[in-house]
Amino acid sequence: MATLYIVGTPIGNLDDLSIRAVSVLSNVDIILAEDTRVTRKLLDRYNIKKEVMIYHQHSDLKKIAQVVSLLEQGKNLALVSDAGTPGINDPGNFLIHEILKELPEVKVVPIPGANAAIASLSISGFPTDTFTFLGFPPHKKGRQTFFKNLDTIPHTVVFYESKYRIIKALEELKNIKNPRDLMVSRELTKQFETTYRGTAEEITMRLGKEPLGEFVVVLGPIKKHKIEISDEE
Ligand code: SAM
Repeated sequence: MATLYIVGTPIGNLDDLSIRAVSVLSNVDIILAEDTRVTRKLLDRYNIKKEVMIYHQHSDLKKIAQVVSLLEQGKNLALVSDAGTPGINDPGNFLIHEILKELPEVKVVPIPGANAAIASLSISGFPTDTFTFLGFPPHKKGRQTFFKNLDTIPHTVVFYESKYRIIKALEELKNIKNPRDLMVSRELTKQFETTYRGTAEEITMRLGKEPLGEFVVVLGPIKKHKIEISDEE
């Protein structure tokens, strides 16, 4: 029976592809990629010449049926996203779920690689025996509740934010009730990688009005024992 490899790829620095990932990408029959141009760049860097097929968040059931059919024919496949680990705020979970419904005997094998949340947590200095990963805050509906709910999570929290909303997120963090340390990672593994530690006010000042790049926000545990939960909306 065929194997579907879930391959972690770099989050910026193309050197961050594991030797095992190179071997798997070189040996599978077809690579499923979120954006073929992005993946081609990575493959070229490692001189991997391989058929690349698109699989992204808008791929429909017809595309999934095509993937199932390839696995049925015994083709080994690798799924990659544009950056980091597939399935972590990237396409992959639904595909795996649907494949296993049709072909429960298919082997799904992780090839671990970079992940922005874990990379950021690893330098935070905050406890990580327990942490909550929240993906992206909602853009509009539910955004206020997202930030309000942070006061109900006593341990370390990590989430993603885009350059368009990072300043807004920091504004919202100024209003949380319970004091906690804050760290923001910008452009991890890239040329302009920067780590910001301090209060939301301090980090906002350092980022300026129109910050560029990709961001991970990490909040340390709530500092006091009593957790205050606001009941105002
Ligand atoms: N699957 C990816 C992973 O494993 O980290 C996450 C994909 S998600 C669509 C993209 C978000 O991850 C970005 O908006 C940013 O919040 C975060 N991210 C990805 N690469 C990053 C980097 N090099 N530096 C900081 N944050 C990054």
